[in-house]
Amino acid sequence: MRETLVLNAGFEPLSTVSLRRAVVLVMQDKAVVEQAHPGLRIRAATVEVPVPQVIRLCRYVRVPFRQRASWSRRGVLVRDRNRCAYCGRRATTVDHVVPRSRGGGDTWLNTVASCTEDNQRKADRTPEQAGMRLLTQPFEPTPADALLLALGLKDRNAAPPGLLGLSA
Ligand SMILES: [Zn+2]
Repeated sequence: MRETLVLNAGFEPLSTVSLRRAVVLVMQDKAVVEQAHPGLRIRAATVEVPVPQVIRLCRYVRVPFRQRASWSRRGVLVRDRNRCAYCGRRATTVDHVVPRSRGGGDTWLNTVASCTEDNQRKADRTPEQAGMRLLTQPFEPTPADALLLALGLKDRNAAPPGLLGLSA
């Protein structure tokens, strides 16, 4: 798996991301290639770009999570982009998937952003008991996720359309 080092606009190393993500950032003009694999190009849609080893962000970003993000309510809302995990509307609260009264903890994998209505409707029950379905599964944000969140990329698994592959 090829990994690309991402530098902040001020040249401090932030994280590594997959080659695909690095190419997305360059194609969206969010980053420039600082160092590329000599002689290797990647074809994406109608253009060919160098295969980036190191990219640098065009704009300084404040990354909301550190190497291992400690859990916080605010962090959950940032991770879930303030979208309710049950209905997709604007979330202002954090819901415990397994309620605290049933032993559910303050952890990344047990908490989701929720609107007030759904939080109250679910109350002290699991989603199954409440007959509610999670639209997205909670995850522990990695430094790469944090970076993509900070850059405002929509889909953490997004790949550029028409990314065809490497050519020498
Ligand atoms: Zn909701």
